Amino acid sequence: MGRMPRRILFVSSEVAPFAKTGGLADVSSALPVALAQHGLDVRVFMPKYGSIDAVSAGFLASTRWVESNLWDKSAKITLFQSKIPGSSVPIYFVSYDPFFDRPDLYQEDGKDYPDNLERFALFCHVVLKRIRPDGWIPDIIHCNDWQTGLIPAIIAAYRSENRLFRELKTLFTLHNIGYQGLFPEDRLPLSGLQPWQFTIGGVEFYDSISLLKAGLVYSDWITAVSPTYAEEIQTPEYGKGLEGVLQHYSDKLSGVLNGVDYSIWDPSNDPVIAKNYSDTDLTGKAVCKQELQRECSLPIEPDVPILAVISRLDDQKGFDLLSAILEDLLKLGVQFVMLGTGDAAYERYLTKLAEKYTYQVAVNITFNDDLAHKIEAGADIFLMPSKYEPCGLNQMYSLRYGTIPVVRRTGGLNDTVSEFDRSTGEGNGFTFTEYAPHAFYRAAMNALSVYWGNKDLWRQIQQTGMRQDFSWDASAARYIELYNHLSL
Ligand code: ADP
Repeated sequence: MGRMPRRILFVSSEVAPFAKTGGLADVSSALPVALAQHGLDVRVFMPKYGSIDAVSAGFLASTRWVESNLWDKSAKITLFQSKIPGSSVPIYFVSYDPFFDRPDLYQEDGKDYPDNLERFALFCHVVLKRIRPDGWIPDIIHCNDWQTGLIPAIIAAYRSENRLFRELKTLFTLHNIGYQGLFPEDRLPLSGLQPWQFTIGGVEFYDSISLLKAGLVYSDWITAVSPTYAEEIQTPEYGKGLEGVLQHYSDKLSGVLNGVDYSIWDPSNDPVIAKNYSDTDLTGKAVCKQELQRECSLPIEPDVPILAVISRLDDQKGFDLLSAILEDLLKLGVQFVMLGTGDAAYERYLTKLAEKYTYQVAVNITFNDDLAHKIEAGADIFLMPSKYEPCGLNQMYSLRYGTIPVVRRTGGLNDTVSEFDRSTGEGNGFTFTEYAPHAFYRAAMNALSVYWGNKDLWRQIQQTGMRQDFSWDASAARYIELYNHLSL
């Protein structure tokens, strides 16, 4: 048996609270901390974006060196160091202003930055260079999504000639197969990949370079962020063209559910919400509801249910289903609170809806972490009709906040939300399977009929969800098992 791996280099393009566009950022701060709590020596790497302020991010030391062998020019790259807040886990920021000092992470005005290949290739190469001169040599590199897909591919390409790479194992976590990092073939020299890697068995995906496929093919193990999603992505409906690759590598693929960081998402100690509450005393939730209605300029009505959505406005999240049934629900007198940014057409639709239903609808087209907490605390029902959902975090936050989820049974939603059964009293929410408005409507109506018809039962469902434990502890233990398995 090999030795137990202890040193984990965790690489991600976003880490909360430094930079975040979605759930990846939450995972990338909570998982390393949970691994460290299990006794592992973890270090994190991310790019230093323009939005990260050196002072508030607590930058400590910096190292400067010259990177010269990727493209025939030298780029001056600085490495800043800090800690993941509330922990002693070191995080390193790869700073190269021409690439990363920009208003956003991957795109602006809905258009990807044209040099994303170079940007993330540079990031990956710096990470790989960094593990050599420093005495700290990881046992495992844990990569995440297409932005880090070059790391396993480059390690694989140089394993035979590089002793360090030979001993390194790579684990690649797939957070969303919808983002594949596709680039034209002629850009291959900019990636640092070897020409022989541009084949169907390598990084080629329909004549393009796919950095996601690079990660899938060349890593030693792949995880998807929920067991159901790990199965779904092997089918044409969910695989986005990569189902064949994933079937081929199914013996190195498993699903590990993301966890919730309850130090941030727990109504009993959430500093942002109007009043704290817990499963044994939910009175504070009524105060949070009142405060949410006030803040959203909605009539203060304790008995009118608030349905909520917090989400990127994207086809993935089922906004076509939502827009098909929302007005029918509003006609029943419910209130609807929404927080999200994204697709301009959905932003327009929702803004119009808020104008039409002034007294029932509050639409917040912005990214606002505090408001997300207030909505989780103040709402009654949380809607997630996703077309696909790799894991999903908001349904787990909702469960802890006693906000009952109505979800489509897919991916992580399927692994965390179970249909309430009146006969047994089991179940923590309401679900539907068919991707169709009538199915979603029926599930929402099932929730509303309990809300309106039986307050005791409603309380029981809330408590079932609030008492469940989706903390990182169990998931971190699963990752450690995988690290150990890889080192055998
Ligand atoms: P995804 O990663 O697909 O966007 P998840 O449910 O896994 O979906 O994670 C989304 C995360 O982003 C959650 O923490 C959620 O609260 C947060 N979020 C999404 N949109 C907003 C927004 N407009 N304002 C604040 N937080 C948001």
